[in-house]
Amino acid sequence: MEEYDVIICGGGIAGLTAGIYAMRRKMKALLITKDIGGQANLAEKIENYPGFISVAGRDLIQKTYEQVKSFGLEVVFEDVQGFREENGKYIVKTNIAERKTKTVIIAMGKIPRKLRVPGEDKFIGKGVSYCATCDMPLFKDKTVAVIGGGNSALEAALLGSKFAKKVYLVHRRGEFRGFEELVEKVKSKKNVEIVLWAIPKEIKGEEKLDSIVLEKTKRDEEGKIVGTGETFELKVDGIFVEIGFEVDPTPIKDFVKLDERNQVIITSNCETFYPNSDKIRPGVFAAGDITNTPFKQLVIAAGEGCKAALQAYNYIHGTSGPVMVH
Ligand code: NAP
Repeated sequence: MEEYDVIICGGGIAGLTAGIYAMRRKMKALLITKDIGGQANLAEKIENYPGFISVAGRDLIQKTYEQVKSFGLEVVFEDVQGFREENGKYIVKTNIAERKTKTVIIAMGKIPRKLRVPGEDKFIGKGVSYCATCDMPLFKDKTVAVIGGGNSALEAALLGSKFAKKVYLVHRRGEFRGFEELVEKVKSKKNVEIVLWAIPKEIKGEEKLDSIVLEKTKRDEEGKIVGTGETFELKVDGIFVEIGFEVDPTPIKDFVKLDERNQVIITSNCETFYPNSDKIRPGVFAAGDITNTPFKQLVIAAGEGCKAALQAYNYIHGTSGPVMVH
């Protein structure tokens, strides 16, 4: 079986940046991914990535992908299903093939979190969306609800204000988690109504999505957000679920140590650990939103991709400490 120096799993900004650095170090590298771009594709406008005053997520990714391809990185579009160790090397298993490598970079990112309420699955793609950038234009002059209180929800509400007749922004607490600047922008939009202290209970409709049932919330004595039992209904044509992202633990849970949110625990050099152990798993690195690094920002994911690739190089060459790349 052909042996790679590094197999990078995931084609988001972390994986792509790892690809750039692996190629600059002349490593025999392969990138395995389901798609190129991941979560960055969902961002209509990125205004906090150095070098760009404002750039669409898809454009930034397209440029990065062109850069990666200009270095000659091999890319295959497959679904990573698991990993195993064999005689000090690693086997990466996908839905199509098994491949051997000296090192692995896990950069598979996260998937959108679902509400897990009745009616949600029935209306996925028929009124319920997890991608405002992709689907908001379909709701021109309609009424939509955006669920969540983070930057994604705030950005979705802002986008909604441009297309929809009316946007309800529904959040389960009294304070937003997202950037203050975005909160101010949302508050300035006349067609956005902010609904605080409420969580979705049910999505209703016969053929077509018709309404969302919300339950009022409050803080209990321990400070936890709980439902009060009092419900109310909003008539809507569409619902944008923007309540964060979660890791799919299936391919990684028996391979590396995860935290309570299934994120890969890494050292400051992107090294990983054996499951349920404090022992570093040699040659296995992780980068981007799949890791336990607290700030989920594109520039951080890119930085981790860079570190992971340089550490993989160090590992193969038996060196340690910072590596200079010119
Ligand atoms: P997030 O920051 O994790 O926020 C998720 C929001 O959904 C929170 O307000 C949370 O409420 C709420 N929520 C979670 N589960 C819920 C449920 N079951 N029912 C109702 N509400 C629920 O997720 P995100 O906004 O998608 O952002 C993900 C990461 O990407 C963040 O680090 C964010 O900063 C980053 N991001 C950055 C930008 C940017 O820089 N412009 C844009 C988008 C995203 P609580 O607040 O009560 O927990």
